[in-house]
Amino acid sequence: MRYDVLTLFPEMFRGVLGNSILKKAEEKQLVSYNIVDFRSYSQDKHQRVDDYPYGGGGGMVLTPQPIFDAIDDLTKDNPSAKRRIILLCPQGERYTQKKAEQLVEYDQLIFICGHYEGYDERIREHLVTDEISIGDYVLTGGELGAMVIIDSVTRLLSGVLGNETSAVTDSFSTGLLEYPHYTRPVEFRGLKVPDILLSGHHKNIEEWRHRESIKRTLERRPDLLNERELTEREKKWIEILNEEDKN
Ligand code: SAM
Repeated sequence: MRYDVLTLFPEMFRGVLGNSILKKAEEKQLVSYNIVDFRSYSQDKHQRVDDYPYGGGGGMVLTPQPIFDAIDDLTKDNPSAKRRIILLCPQGERYTQKKAEQLVEYDQLIFICGHYEGYDERIREHLVTDEISIGDYVLTGGELGAMVIIDSVTRLLSGVLGNETSAVTDSFSTGLLEYPHYTRPVEFRGLKVPDILLSGHHKNIEEWRHRESIKRTLERRPDLLNERELTEREKKWIEILNEEDKN
C-alpha cells in the first residue's frame, strides 16, 4: 500500500507514522508514506495556496492549481493504478470499519487535507473519488482524519499485526462490539476473572465470548444489531437478555 498525503503541515505526521505499528509496517515494506507539502506545487510567486472566496464572506479557500498539479504528479507514473483520491471533509461520508475494509483493497490512497474555510469546489467535483468525514464535528484541518484512515487501513493489511486473528475479532469487523478481555492476575483488589475463562474449555469460552459480544452490542450499540443477519441462537440470547433487563 502506498499512501500519499497532500498537506500544508507535513510535520504533523512525523509522530504518528514514526511510531509503533505504523512505523513497523513501513520498515517491513508493507506500506510507504509520502507526505507532500502541496505548497511546493504553487505557481504563485509567493507560493500562496489559498485566496478570498468569490462572492465574499469570511475565511480563505484553497485554490485548485497546487492540488490538481500535485495529483497529476503523483499519478503520472502509473495512471491505471488501483487507487482512491480521498478528500477529508466534514461533509463527506461518515468513516466506518466497513470503509476501511474497502480501502485496504487498493494499492494507493491519496489524501487531500483541507484547511481554513474549505477548498475550491472544482477539487471536490473533478478530482476526488471519495469524500470522507471522520465524525460529526469540525476539525481545523484534514490531517488528523488522514492519520485515522491510514492507521485503521494499515492494521488490516496482511502481515502488519503480529497476530492475524486480532483484527478479525475486533469491534465492528464482526458486525458486533468485541467481548471483554482479562489478563493476570486472576484476582485483583478482590475482583475476579470470570471462571469460564480459566476453565480451559475452548468451546464454552468461545460461546461465552460470543454471548458477551451480543450483550455489549445490545447495551451500547443496538443499531449494529439491526444491520446484522442474526442467527437463531443470537436471537434467543437477545430475547433472554431483554427479559433479564426487564426484571
Ligand atoms: N467550512 C467547512 C465546512 O463547514 O464544511 C469546514 C472547514 S474545516 C475548518 C477545515 C478542514 O478540516 C476541512 O477542509 C477538512 O479537510 C478538515 N475537516 C474538518 N472536519 C473534518 C471531519 N469531521 N472529518 C474530516 N475532515 C475534517
